[in-house]
Amino acid sequence: MFKDRVLSGMRPTGYMHIGHYHGALKNWIALQSQMECFYFVADWHALTTNYDDPRVVAKSTFEMVADWLGAGLNPDQCTIFLQSQVPQHAELSLLLGMITPLGWLERVPTYKEQQDNLNEKDLTTYGFLGYPLMQTADIIVYRANKVPVGEDQVSHLEISREIARRFNHIYGREPGFEEKAVLATKKLGGKLAKEYESFKTAYNQDGNAEALDKAKKLVVAAGSLSNAEKEMLVGFLTGARKTILPEPQALLTPTSKLIGLDGRKMSKSYGNAIDLREPAASVEKKVRAMKTDPKRARRTDPGNPDDCPVWTLHEVYSDDARKAWVREGCTTAGIGCLECKQPVIEAINAELAPIQARIAEIEAKPDYVKDVLRAGCARAREVTETTMRDVRDAMGLAEL
Ligand code: SF4
Repeated sequence: MFKDRVLSGMRPTGYMHIGHYHGALKNWIALQSQMECFYFVADWHALTTNYDDPRVVAKSTFEMVADWLGAGLNPDQCTIFLQSQVPQHAELSLLLGMITPLGWLERVPTYKEQQDNLNEKDLTTYGFLGYPLMQTADIIVYRANKVPVGEDQVSHLEISREIARRFNHIYGREPGFEEKAVLATKKLGGKLAKEYESFKTAYNQDGNAEALDKAKKLVVAAGSLSNAEKEMLVGFLTGARKTILPEPQALLTPTSKLIGLDGRKMSKSYGNAIDLREPAASVEKKVRAMKTDPKRARRTDPGNPDDCPVWTLHEVYSDDARKAWVREGCTTAGIGCLECKQPVIEAINAELAPIQARIAEIEAKPDYVKDVLRAGCARAREVTETTMRDVRDAMGLAEL
């Protein structure tokens, strides 16, 4: 049983490219054997911006999941599911909407930014504004404590933490919490109870951090208390309320951002990507045609790898010796660009060959991807329902 739970998702964009693989998927694959991982197809999120083009969503889902599996996600090690088949995400998003101030959502930096970037679309919708709320629900409905993000995305998690904190603040106090805490203190026994009280007073009156630390140790070591009572007494020390929805933490992950064939970010919509399913001959053709440092107009002109998109591929696919060869050869015009590209072509094709073989096997089994998703959704519903029972109870909703 793993201590940490990870949640991460991707919008259904169809076939994955090597940018997805090196930017996220490889990391997901590594994590599945280290933590309890939930990976989902964010099809509701896709509708926040593509609500007017729904036909592609389902098809893209199956293509994308086949690529995930081909790349190495193992449904026996992680849970792979479809967001729209786990209604608990929507329920929690709705309930969190009751307590989330509108200003918090309007101030999310990507809200204005994306509206400007996608200005051909009318994004003055409730769904688009509520996107960070749904994202928060996606994470905390699993009580996931780790969310893999690159360094530039750490701030995106802040609103999720704020919403969880607000929820715990409003609903976290159990009925009769103080009475129960007093009873638990008595269970410590005369001497320990007295010490606990005096440490608690020293912390609350004088801010004595050492006293707080000693009190926590005393509680944790107490043999007469259950774990729930210990948790309660630790919370009682600082006046903290019960944590119903834990605040998620960023799991900083190494991400490589592959540059596309034309020097812009690798993206399907720019048509500058190499798909995981790209045939070897097509990889060769694309990389050979790839832009290089514009200063190398002729074979005899020296160049600078830092100004060349091919270098970003070397950074991912080449070892130090090869990279040194590129730097030396490029800056002295000792190698030509086609010569420089050849080892990258070979490395990409060597990486893609086993992935493509697995994708072919997966797609040869007609319902395999659907079966993986069905099993994942069942597991996801089971886990999220546990959270939702606590949330409904905390918010005073009746059970029938
Ligand atoms: S030699 Fe390599 S790094 Fe230098 S410009 Fe050509 S492709 Fe780019």
